[in-house]
Amino acid sequence: MKIGIVGLPNVGKSTLFNALTRARADAANYPFCTIDPNVGVVNVPDPRLEVLNEMYQPAKKTPTTIEFVDIAGLVRGASKGEGLGNQFLAHIREVEAIAQVVRCFTDENVTHVDGEIDPVRDIETINTELMLADLATVEKRMEKTSRMAKSGEKKYKEELKVLEELKTALAEGKSIRQLDPGETGKRLIKELNLLTAKPTIYIANVNEEDMIDPSGNRLVNEVKEYAAGEGARVVAISAKIEADLAELEEEEARLFMEELGLEESGLDRVIRAGYALLDLITFFTAGEKEVRAWTVKRGATAPEAAGKIHTDMQRGFIRAEVISYEDLVRAGSVAKVREEGLLRLEGKDYIVKDGDICYFRFNV
Ligand code: GDP
Repeated sequence: MKIGIVGLPNVGKSTLFNALTRARADAANYPFCTIDPNVGVVNVPDPRLEVLNEMYQPAKKTPTTIEFVDIAGLVRGASKGEGLGNQFLAHIREVEAIAQVVRCFTDENVTHVDGEIDPVRDIETINTELMLADLATVEKRMEKTSRMAKSGEKKYKEELKVLEELKTALAEGKSIRQLDPGETGKRLIKELNLLTAKPTIYIANVNEEDMIDPSGNRLVNEVKEYAAGEGARVVAISAKIEADLAELEEEEARLFMEELGLEESGLDRVIRAGYALLDLITFFTAGEKEVRAWTVKRGATAPEAAGKIHTDMQRGFIRAEVISYEDLVRAGSVAKVREEGLLRLEGKDYIVKDGDICYFRFNV
């Protein structure tokens, strides 16, 4: 699951990306990080994992991860191939969600590509490029579908009607994610992999002094208003502070945050917002060797979750022994959970819930 970091040049994308990968990546476990410098595998912070770690005292504790991709190169005109336009759009196609960084910090030493600092204009510049790219994709498909529709087959007529609706929305400056498409629409959007359909958050990069209370920053408020219009979230951070924090050892970083009056790191907020954006849930495996957090799409079944651990576990799935995190914490130990009859046996149709601690039984 990948989240693409996009934004105009000089807004702080690389600063944020580097902070994320320096502070939250587990380079040893993911050697390919060093092969593709634009992809960072980042640990997802989860206090539940710490609690399980205390309880089980395992040899190893492994958080779950998501990937961030630094996608540079978006400029006005990208959809027409300006700059690295096409390459840039191709990279966005490969991610499941978008984190758009917008500049809300003032710094005379850092030039803005369009002169004045105006984050809403910047968002519109980017979103317009993405809409134009989608418009081209939809039009191309319409040509093809029109030819097919000549056969009179109902399916193609319906498709053409839906494509027409998508085209109209895009031409009016709406992102596809703002629409409420029917079944055919959903299928087409997926097939065409439309860019403006991807779930999006806005990351307002603010001045260091606005970090603790960004509500006084007029620019952040403008971004929030814009985002509210499309039901998107805004996370305010200072990429610069995050970059400084990323250079420090854990204890030093904690002290520095305390000094600044920060309760939670901006990186953690970005990671968690990204995780939520992808509609993912976390389940755990726990034993004396390892406690580990795993990620599945919300709605995944027990065998699908088992498949995240090993394909054999999915293929040979018999049943899952499941304890909910809340039950375990309330009871205090696995033995108590058993005593109280809170350990559940679940079959292949069971939908895994966030916080489930699972033990899978399977045939080899
Ligand atoms: P990108 O082109 O979007 O990847 O932007 P960079 O991350 O390379 O940042 C561009 C410039 O802005 C660099 O000189 C950064 O040091 C600076 N910069 C990034 N974030 C901040 C910030 O939060 N505050 C200030 N003052 N400067 C920043």
